[in-house]
Order: sequence, then structure tokens, then C-alpha cells
Amino acid sequence: MKRIGVITSGGDSSGMNAAVRAVVKTALDQGCEVYGFLRGYTGVLNGKYSIMDSRAVSGVIQRGGTILQSARCEEFKTEAGQLKAVSNLFGLGVEGMVVIGGDGSLRGANVLAGMGMPVIGIPASIDNDIFGTDISIGADTALNVIVGAVDMIKDTASSHDRAFIIEVMGRNCGYLAAMSAIACGAEVAIIPEIGFDLGKIAERLYARFKEGRTNSIIMVAEGAMSAYEVENQLKDRIGYDIRITVLGHLQRGGSPTVFDRILASRLGRSAVEALLRGESGKMVGQVKNRIVLTDLDEVLGTCKMVDLEMIELTDILGR
Ligand code: ADP
Repeated sequence: MKRIGVITSGGDSSGMNAAVRAVVKTALDQGCEVYGFLRGYTGVLNGKYSIMDSRAVSGVIQRGGTILQSARCEEFKTEAGQLKAVSNLFGLGVEGMVVIGGDGSLRGANVLAGMGMPVIGIPASIDNDIFGTDISIGADTALNVIVGAVDMIKDTASSHDRAFIIEVMGRNCGYLAAMSAIACGAEVAIIPEIGFDLGKIAERLYARFKEGRTNSIIMVAEGAMSAYEVENQLKDRIGYDIRITVLGHLQRGGSPTVFDRILASRLGRSAVEALLRGESGKMVGQVKNRIVLTDLDEVLGTCKMVDLEMIELTDILGR
């Protein structure tokens, strides 16, 4: 293999640059040229790319976002778009692709692999909802951003006898809400994976209020319920004044944590090595601190849940 392509696609996450850097440096080390397509599958369709030398990835490891930019590309979801993408890649002499992104981007990667283009996926998603890796690139940074914000909110919450409902990202996966609840000492985590009874939650918070505890923090994953709906159900039932913070896009930004930089560097290197060994249609992931390859069919066909132990821990420590 003499020429490979790389894209970052879908929702951006911090650490994507570290992954791109590792892909480029590993490929160059193996005598391969790297085409960095811009704006995910859109760049593959319009033939917009830059040839990446090691200077192109210097000074990027500490930067959030993605130097290749990212996009959601509807055209690539169509059969005509997919045919055009593969034909563009073959036309440019690209012999393998590394796709860095979330669940949707990896679905696209699997389509490309099915059409004969060798592809390896790298999981990057702050939601940490991708099977085949204990954690995906960006989730740790997002968690640190959330915890930093909640620590600040707790200062004001305790000064005013307030309950704060804090909405975090996570469409189908409550990883960020559950883990940040543990790390921030929140009283409640509302996540999509398990049922929740707002009546019982209200009773618990009211009991806390009566005991004279000065604040309560409720973490809610956007996919479970909006913070405003939770407020509607809890207001006038818990004693505390309620305030809402929706952390929104703040969670995607920021310089990647050391953990994300190292994870992304390891996955980037392994993705290129896998491609050069002739692997395709697979994703690299980190499981129990080892880098493993999993078929994209299995990755995309399996639902990843928050660890039950973590859910129990949020419950025990929130009491
Ligand atoms: P993420 O990768 O963060 O989950 P999206 O779900 O928006 O983000 O997917 C990113 C892009 O991946 C989409 O805009 C589209 O180009 C491509 N994609 C998503 N789902 C599919 C699919 N089922 N088949 C082909 N391409 C897809």
C-alpha cells in the first residue's frame, strides 16, 4: 500500500487531531503517502484533500476540534454518493482509508469496505457509545470539561440552597451523565439505559432538603429527558430552588486530556498497521488497555451500555 486516505467525520471530539497525527506519522514511517480529505465524506465526494507531511501535523496534538474539519454528509448516505466516493478514491490511487468518527461515520466506513476499499475505523465520540472499545476518543476530555463546570456550579448552588439540573450530551448512552455524577458527587444521574421514577427522586431530594443539605446536583443525559422536563416534574416538590444548566457544545471543546492524546495516538498507529497488514472492515479499539480489532459488523450491531457497576455506584454515592 503506497497511498492511504484519512477523514474525521460526524460530531467532532477532542483528540481527533492526535489520531490524525498518529495516522500520518505511522504511514510516513512505513513509506506511505497520506491524503487528508477535508470535511469527512464531503471531501471524498468533492475530491478536496491535502497531502499530509509531518509538518501538517506538527503542533496539533494539544488542539481540540479537527484540523481536517468534520461534516455530516447526506449525499454519502445514498448509493450514488457511495459509488462516487469509491470511484474518486480509486481514481486518486488511494488504496486504503482510515475513518475517524462516531457510530454513523463507522457505518459509512463499513459501506466503503463492502465496496472493496480497505478501511479501518477509529472510534471518536464523546458519548462513548461505540462497542468494541472501552472508551472512545474525546469521552475523557468531555468528562473533564463537565466535571470542571459542575465544580464551579456547586459553589453557587451551596451558597443559595439550590438544586441544579445539569444536562449533558448522550443520545442513547448515559456514560457522561453517570461518570460525571460519580466524579462530581452528584445526588442523581438520569440516564437512558435504565428506568427512573421522578416521584422517588423528588422524595429523595426533599428529604435531603429537610436535613438541611445546602445543594443538590442532578445530572441528566439529553437522551433520557431534557433538563426542562425534569424541572417541570420536580418543581415545588423538592424544597430547593431549581436552576438549569445545559452544557451543550462546551462539552466537545477543549484541549484533549493526556488520556485522550495517548488513546488517539495508539489507535492511530494501530489503524495504519492493520491496513498495511491487509485488514479491512474493522475498528481498532482499546479493551482492558490492549489494542484490539473488531469487525465493523459486530461493532455496529452491538449496543454498548454503561457498566452496571457504575450505575449502582451513582446510586449508592448519591444517597
Ligand atoms: P457520527 O459519526 O458522529 O455518529 P453521524 O451519525 O452524523 O455522526 O454520521 C456522520 C456521517 O457518516 C454522515 O453524515 C454520513 O455521511 C455518514 N453515515 C452515517 N450513517 C451512514 C450510513 N448508514 N451509511 C452510510 N454513511 C453513513
